Amino acid sequence: MKPLIAGNWKMHMTRSAARELATALVRSIPDPLEAADVALYPPFTCLSDVLGAVSDSEISVGAQNMHPQDQGAFTGEISPSMLLDVGATRVLCGHSERRQLFGESDDFVNQKVLAALGHDILPTLCVGETLAEREAGQTAAVVERQVRAGLAGVGADKTGEVTVAYEPVWAIGTGLTATPAQAGAVHAQIRALLQDLWAAAGETVRILYGGSVKPANARELLGVPHVNGALVGGASLSAPSFAGIIAATS
Ligand code: PEP
Repeated sequence: MKPLIAGNWKMHMTRSAARELATALVRSIPDPLEAADVALYPPFTCLSDVLGAVSDSEISVGAQNMHPQDQGAFTGEISPSMLLDVGATRVLCGHSERRQLFGESDDFVNQKVLAALGHDILPTLCVGETLAEREAGQTAAVVERQVRAGLAGVGADKTGEVTVAYEPVWAIGTGLTATPAQAGAVHAQIRALLQDLWAAAGETVRILYGGSVKPANARELLGVPHVNGALVGGASLSAPSFAGIIAATS
């Protein structure tokens, strides 16, 4: 399975800085991109600029969030058709910062996944436990609940469009990384859940690892069974470091 390396820029970058970073990245990665697929998730305001900057490359571009409804009285929100209108083809659903800071429930995250698929936008469902949940021995239960709820109603015919990202909350932006054994255990659990949901089609879904991935640890993490790529926050904000993670796939 070809790995996917995805960069989540979170709430960083002005439009000109975004153009510079995306342009520098295009210059820093192989063309053609043989060993990996690459996706960028800039802020909404930078989507057009980043799409323009990567238009001659194989990099795909998505949004970090999306409202499930197509239009309506949802002040401050962005709809699936608005994302399509700007040219975005992917969306993150249920990033832990959305769940923790903005109170997104499993059900709301599921609505986003279904809305994305309904519009041919490729969703990445993000799941992962907090430190308190891990210490209480609840990791497997939390991940199972988030995977089953987030993917409820998604048919096996859609598995080619779905990605799952396992991001232990305690490893996001902290410099702490799951050990290969910790990541491997949860990725194997998610793979089994996907097979339970979709039988053989569940084997084809990419499961990304996220949480302080850097050039120095990428190769080891990407070598873990059922780790099919990385969702990268901080290290995606510099072209050399994000390119270094992409290079670890070759
Ligand atoms: C993320 O935001 O999805 C993430 C994994 O962040 P970081 O790489 O900075 O831990």
